[in-house]
Amino acid sequence: MRWSHVLAALAPLVLVALLVFAFASPPAVVPATAPPDVFSAERAMEDVRGLTSTGLPHPAGAWDRVERTPSEIADHARAQAYVRDRLIALGMKPEIQRSQACGRLKCGKVENVVARIEGTEPGPAVMLAAHYDSTPFGPGAADDGAGVATILETVRALRAGPPLRRTLIVLIDDGEEMGLLGAAAFVSDHPWAKDVGAVLNFEARGTAGQTAMFETSNGNAELVRLFAGAVDRPVASSVIYTAYKRLPNDTDLSVLKQAGMQGLNFAFADRVFDYHTANDTAAELDPRSLQHMGDQALPVARALLGAPALPVPGGDAVYFDLFTLGLVRYPAGLTGPLAALSAALAAAAIGGAVRRGRTSLRRVLASAAVWLGALVLSTLGGIGLGMLLVKIRFPDVGSGPMAVRRMMMGDHHSFAPWLALVGLSAAITAAFALWLGPRAPAAAAIGAAAGKDAPAADSDASSEAARGAQAGGSTGVPKSVYEPPAAGPAAAPGAPKSSPALDSIALAGGALVLWNVLSLLLGFGAPGASYPFTWTALSAAGGLAFAASAAPGAASAAPEPRRLVTATVIASLPMAILWFPIVRVLLIMVGPTMPPGATLPITLTATLIVPLLAAAPKRLRWALPAAAAALALGSAVVACILR
Ligand SMILES: [Zn+2]
Repeated sequence: MRWSHVLAALAPLVLVALLVFAFASPPAVVPATAPPDVFSAERAMEDVRGLTSTGLPHPAGAWDRVERTPSEIADHARAQAYVRDRLIALGMKPEIQRSQACGRLKCGKVENVVARIEGTEPGPAVMLAAHYDSTPFGPGAADDGAGVATILETVRALRAGPPLRRTLIVLIDDGEEMGLLGAAAFVSDHPWAKDVGAVLNFEARGTAGQTAMFETSNGNAELVRLFAGAVDRPVASSVIYTAYKRLPNDTDLSVLKQAGMQGLNFAFADRVFDYHTANDTAAELDPRSLQHMGDQALPVARALLGAPALPVPGGDAVYFDLFTLGLVRYPAGLTGPLAALSAALAAAAIGGAVRRGRTSLRRVLASAAVWLGALVLSTLGGIGLGMLLVKIRFPDVGSGPMAVRRMMMGDHHSFAPWLALVGLSAAITAAFALWLGPRAPAAAAIGAAAGKDAPAADSDASSEAARGAQAGGSTGVPKSVYEPPAAGPAAAPGAPKSSPALDSIALAGGALVLWNVLSLLLGFGAPGASYPFTWTALSAAGGLAFAASAAPGAASAAPEPRRLVTATVIASLPMAILWFPIVRVLLIMVGPTMPPGATLPITLTATLIVPLLAAAPKRLRWALPAAAAALALGSAVVACILR
């Protein structure tokens, strides 16, 4: 095992990470000179600027004060008039729905702007929804000026085409920031609410980034199929939706879904530090994010308005985009059987490795326990480092999780602490497993025990193992003599040089156990979130089977380095393709504010790489955890300087 082997195993992962970032930009802005039936962000930006022309906040009600200020009241009326006038200019007859509504936290008066275009055929309507009110903290150019402008430009482009088959309803509502009050007023008081068959909602949580389809209604299989067929550059993952469902975050779509509407929710979320601040201005808003929103709003609206029938809610889909090039999807009903199949293949791969004498079941299970310990340690370490960095970087913010979260949201330099968490979790996982990982009996002993020829001592690991065999006695000694404690102080560093080699195959088998446990739990419990685990578990079973299968004529317990490199790539490449985009979304959405969001995926990634290091000579073996620790320390120092 040499440097080149480790680099060869890591290169595909680095390539995937680069690809994820290369495909992470929103599309170029379509100029205003584009044909009328096309969505142009240059045209839509005019509406963002118009809606926020004063640069003032226009909230629907008082926030933590008793009354709105005169300026807030005046700008709210101006923003509402702007929306109404634009809809009139687009040939619609907007109405103002004045109503009183209550949300979870408070009640208030709202004034929704609603309009409709009758379809040529009867049947349920399609609704486009966004909110024109802002918070009292800024003009809300992205949140939700971008959503409003997307709807206006979409309606303009739709009207440039043939008459609409289905009725279109536009809801530019009020009081979203006060607790979804406008949407609540629409569903409870407005007669059009019962006409709506499907809704598209547009939101923002920052001022830049790709627009993701991050939420669907239940029974989404047909809706997701329509979305996949309509959109050229999809960004969507059922993992994100599954996680979002469990978070307290809400948008208008939550209220509309409760009223029985099916729908999709779109938002961008980069530069989250601008969210709900005075910096949420038209100048800060990346027009490419608006283009990406429109590139999905217009074709999906067209598909819904033109389809012979609206999608019928039924089964759920598992879905994810591949580098934004297309959407992979399959029925959620398949996730359980797929997880069971994966577990069966994992059992076969581990059983095969044990039968060939490459490892023992006991060491595989010990490895699984070691990985579980690493997972707990890196999570605790990440939480500790997160709290320490907050204390050093923002000493005035106070304590308590909410204060920490609010402060982190406004953090312009969240990349450095996030990278520190990544480095820490990689270092802890690798170091813990390489220190405590089960040792294999000497290769020669295994070869003899398995009734095979003497090993070809072609790698450092196997020669180390062979030395262990010589020190331990003749090669014919029964295996049990060499069976060291699976995990414990006896395996600590400083053991004599003749100690048995770290068991790569057992570590890979233990990782396979861990991935399959997660795959089974999610495959049956949370199907939408299962795909990265199940497909990784499947490929990791392939990797283990390959690593443990002997090359012709070889009988060494330690696999030959090149075989181990190939096995590592087989196991880890699908993981990278499925996991790294989620890691990027987690970086954008939560960054370092929830340390496990950074540490868990990195720890899981490490479980597929560390078995390769286990077969490397000592110096090389410890280079990676050392580099990860250096990354953690360096990033933590940078994080303390930048704030
Ligand atoms: Zn909003």
